[in-house]
Amino acid sequence: MKPFRVRLTFILIALIGISMIGAGFTMAQLFRDSHINALEENMSREINLLSGTLDFVDMEAPEAVAYYTQQAEHIAKLTDSRITFITKAGRVIGDSEKNPLEMDNHSTREEEILAAEDGVGRSIRYSDTLDRKMLYVAGAVSSDQGFDGYIRLSMGLDAVSEGLNRAWLYMAGVLVLLFMAATLVSYKVASSMTSPLEQITRVARRITDLDYDARVPMRRKDEVGQLATAINAMADSLQDQLKTIRDNEDLLQSVLDNMTGGILMINAEEKIALVNRATEKMLDISNSEVAGHSYRELKRHYELTRLVEEGVSNKQPIHEERTIYNPGERIIRLDAVPMMQDDSYRGMLFLLQEVTEIRRLEKMRSEFVANVSHELKTPVAAVKGFAETLLGGGVTDEKTARSFLQIIYDENERLNRLIGDILELSKIESKRVQLDCSPVHLIDFFDSVLGTISKVAEKKNISLSAEVPEELFIEGDEDKLRQIFMNLLSNAINYTHEGGSVKVSVINRVKPDGTETVVFTVSDTGMGIPRKDLPRIFERFYRVDKARSRSSGGTGLGLSIVKHLVELHRGAISVQSELGIGSSFILELPLLQEEKL
Ligand code: ADP
Repeated sequence: MKPFRVRLTFILIALIGISMIGAGFTMAQLFRDSHINALEENMSREINLLSGTLDFVDMEAPEAVAYYTQQAEHIAKLTDSRITFITKAGRVIGDSEKNPLEMDNHSTREEEILAAEDGVGRSIRYSDTLDRKMLYVAGAVSSDQGFDGYIRLSMGLDAVSEGLNRAWLYMAGVLVLLFMAATLVSYKVASSMTSPLEQITRVARRITDLDYDARVPMRRKDEVGQLATAINAMADSLQDQLKTIRDNEDLLQSVLDNMTGGILMINAEEKIALVNRATEKMLDISNSEVAGHSYRELKRHYELTRLVEEGVSNKQPIHEERTIYNPGERIIRLDAVPMMQDDSYRGMLFLLQEVTEIRRLEKMRSEFVANVSHELKTPVAAVKGFAETLLGGGVTDEKTARSFLQIIYDENERLNRLIGDILELSKIESKRVQLDCSPVHLIDFFDSVLGTISKVAEKKNISLSAEVPEELFIEGDEDKLRQIFMNLLSNAINYTHEGGSVKVSVINRVKPDGTETVVFTVSDTGMGIPRKDLPRIFERFYRVDKARSRSSGGTGLGLSIVKHLVELHRGAISVQSELGIGSSFILELPLLQEEKL
């Protein structure tokens, strides 16, 4: 049961009750009045009847009292009412209830006074004689037989009251029935008025509980219908706004998620408000774990936390770099700006960018420039020195002069090679080199490569051999492949003592994923490479033994170029070596080059 419905029901019932009781009283009054009126009419008609039919005797005669008393008693029996004969002067000469001689003068009685004036008079009053409320009707009657006075009929009102009570009882019954019906109707009316309101209230509550799909199913045109329409329109608009908000949120979220830069937002309470995916990855944290916590909980990244602390306490922009070590050593650039909204400080926004690679490349570039200058300086200085000596004219014997010229020539050659290698390397590194692929028949290829280099090997008495499967072709850039193997083989000959051997072996391999590759191994029985240098020999200008490499004419760039060329063929190169026993360079190149996009 809903209070408003109950209240409305009660109010309706009370209104109906009050009007029914009012109507009841009015009806009772009318009923009583009309009943008494009807009685009066009857009684006055009876008086008229008596005046016309009764045998009157002289009122003054001695037997008059006895006669009228007897008549009164007789008529009273017939009419069931009290009857009194009264002279004009008010003396009672006959009464059906009491001895007239004992009765006082009736001339001052209201009904007699009225009858004297109008012919008929009536009155309701209490009768001392009969000790009850009576209705009196008196008629002025005069007869030729000697009667000139009033005939008065009176009746107790008990009968009226009895009738009235019956009417009341009957009415009360009807009233109760009506009342019950009214209660039912009131409840129905109240329900019909309140249930749409309750329906609307339920929907409004669902909307409050974020169920924006809730609608009031109502097609009424009245005020309640208008309220329902307004609620539905409100829900529509809320849903629209929510959708816009969600769409915007999604958009922002996807921007945040897909940013390569990291975002770290610290609110005015110095708590982490937001961390995007890039920051999660960079700092190895998760938004759900750190959001709402103090930024100090990032203490694992001590340097970074210090910088954040500085930004949060100064509320000033920051542009700095810090190294973090978890997970792995990286350089992070941190740009911070205070977030202001309507002139109030909302926190600090930090943009994190990993610059490790950029800094590494920058460092490499400057090292490269330094290395190049250094490498160039040495031969240039040698050429200059020997040329100056010769020009000075101090060298007279021809043999020394020739040897100086030879040195100048050799150094110039080295310089040439160096410049050539540097140009080649920078071309490859800046990705200006394109592969010109074609099928390369490997047996023919190695025949030609070994042929070119065999003279050098023979000079050192090094045996040179190749083990290549017949009819094996590889798709690749023949010139580049030649460059690769010439480099590896000349290194192998260079770093192998006289009498050693250098071998090339080629096998065809099918990888577990079904792709075919060719594995080349260039091995020698040379001096080998110390374990600590193995990871670095593919770096530019890296030489295990500078003096020896230089004496053998190396530039320190050969393996660098090889590695780049192998990678250009989507292959991989690795090295195995044991000091004093020999080295093996192992290359794995795909059999076929995939189409470039
Ligand atoms: P370089 O022109 O000096 O030979 P590379 O880049 O070709 O330069 O080689 C780098 C260094 O690796 C060499 O200086 C040498 O010390 C070492 N190295 C290369 N190949 C071999 C090998 N087969 N045996 C021993 N050491 C080698």
